[in-house]
Amino acid sequence: MMAAGNTAKAAIRIGYGWDSHEFKSGIPLKIGGVEIPHPQGLGGHSDGDVLLHALTDALLGALAAPDIGTLFSPSDSRWKGADSVLFLEEALRRVREAGYRIVNVDSTLILAHPKIVPHAPAIREHLSKLLGIGGEDIGIKAKTPEGMGTENAAIAHAVVLLGKASSARKGKFSTKAPAA
Ligand code: MG
Repeated sequence: MMAAGNTAKAAIRIGYGWDSHEFKSGIPLKIGGVEIPHPQGLGGHSDGDVLLHALTDALLGALAAPDIGTLFSPSDSRWKGADSVLFLEEALRRVREAGYRIVNVDSTLILAHPKIVPHAPAIREHLSKLLGIGGEDIGIKAKTPEGMGTENAAIAHAVVLLGKASSARKGKFSTKAPAA
């Protein structure tokens, strides 16, 4: 088996993450780091931000690093009520350390309520700051759970593409013609 530390050789790497949390009354609803007005929030050991958790796992997965639950155990009291941005920042630190940057991310939320479309611009803007990429490189899609029976849960799927930090810079900013 190839060691997880061997990631530096690939020019691009893909990552995938998935998460779900149950709706609970009396707590704020946070999706993608943005607080959304709603009578219920998402329960969990941390702040229950299903989208940030899926994105964090996608970034960690792209590096073949340990997953979010392994790095930030739900049985560890340090992460009780934690802002999920902390988890994302650790994944981003590992991405930089491995010599990569994010090319783009895509995500799909599956939840019966509330409607996400009105909040998608704010979520995209916030994620753009957190991830350090443009809003045009952040996909946010939302669906209702038709026939799935998961009306009391929010589910998030996320994929990320990483590119080598150095080659990415060359590709984007070099005005020189490639060597023949
Ligand atoms: Mg979670």
